[in-house]
Amino acid sequence: MKSISIHGATGSIGLNAIDIIKRHPDRFNLRVLIGGSKIAPLVQLAKEMNIPYVAIADQTQYKALKEALPTDTTVFAGESGVLEASALNVDVCLAAITGSAGIRPTYTALSHCKSLAIANKESIVAAGEQILAKAKQCGTQIIPVDSEHSAVFQVLRSDKLDDLESVTITASGGPFRTLPIEQFSSITKEMALKHPNWAMGPKNTIDSATLMNKGLEIIEAALLFNLSANKVKAIVHPQSIIHGMSSYVDGTTLAHLSLPDMRTPISYALGYPERTTCDVPTLDLIKLATLTFEAPDHQRFPCLKIAEDCLRADQFHRIVMNAANELAFNKFMNNEIHFTQIPEVIYDILESAKPHRINTISDIISLDNLIRGEI
Ligand code: MG
Repeated sequence: MKSISIHGATGSIGLNAIDIIKRHPDRFNLRVLIGGSKIAPLVQLAKEMNIPYVAIADQTQYKALKEALPTDTTVFAGESGVLEASALNVDVCLAAITGSAGIRPTYTALSHCKSLAIANKESIVAAGEQILAKAKQCGTQIIPVDSEHSAVFQVLRSDKLDDLESVTITASGGPFRTLPIEQFSSITKEMALKHPNWAMGPKNTIDSATLMNKGLEIIEAALLFNLSANKVKAIVHPQSIIHGMSSYVDGTTLAHLSLPDMRTPISYALGYPERTTCDVPTLDLIKLATLTFEAPDHQRFPCLKIAEDCLRADQFHRIVMNAANELAFNKFMNNEIHFTQIPEVIYDILESAKPHRINTISDIISLDNLIRGEI
């Protein structure tokens, strides 16, 4: 029986994880739920599953949450409350808060869990060095939840890294893969929020439309698997059936295939090293019949190139890029900028940011706050 905590319990990853946990009451014991600001689903889940520890990031909702839950539930709120809840000991912590808000809770959880199932890719992009060093120090295993990284983690398991030539992650290409580039200026929020293959939260969906998601994932892969920038590649594969591949010096390429359903990688991360049923059918390759591949179009999707350049640069540039992307995402969602301005905002911030020395998690958080608050 594994005890579990979920950071980002009411988001898309959190709810998918709960769906899996509910199917296996003999294997998983959900102990801690951390939500952002959505009180109703948090209360409903906590009551239904009898969760002893519940936290909400929005401090103003403490009283309402406390009153809605049974008296024996321990309730935390605000930034410090989220960190207190992150410091509760569990077997597996699912880190699924969106964006840089997840950095500190993820870092805190590392010394209080045996394995960290990492879905919060932004925390690896911005703070990968510090997170991986602390995991090593604490003896905590990091299991990726991002579908591409789960795939790479699985195909890399049996081979020596010396023999590895490259790792490839796939991108669906998002909703605008074939849209004429002249029409990009008229892309609306509603159009960008409709992903052709994956059901995900808004941040991940918009990042997928700009291909910044793949940029973040290239960086995530390089850090998680300790690979140099030239060994990590992204290719467009519109069917989203192959998620990740590893290629070796003898001409072998190993690929991981599954339907595009996040429950597969989530169940793998929760149950690792055992596999866990999660109601996702195995592939019918005859029915699928065709898998296609193409090179990513950097002109159409400048965010991917920006991320590749930041991976080749240093941690400072990655932190700035990640924060600038979150800022641009918020501006786009608030109808303050057009879709085509997202890479422009990121590029301008990267150009004007003054270098900072980065050593600690606090250095990362203050730079992230500075960038997101500055412009
Ligand atoms: Mg992904």
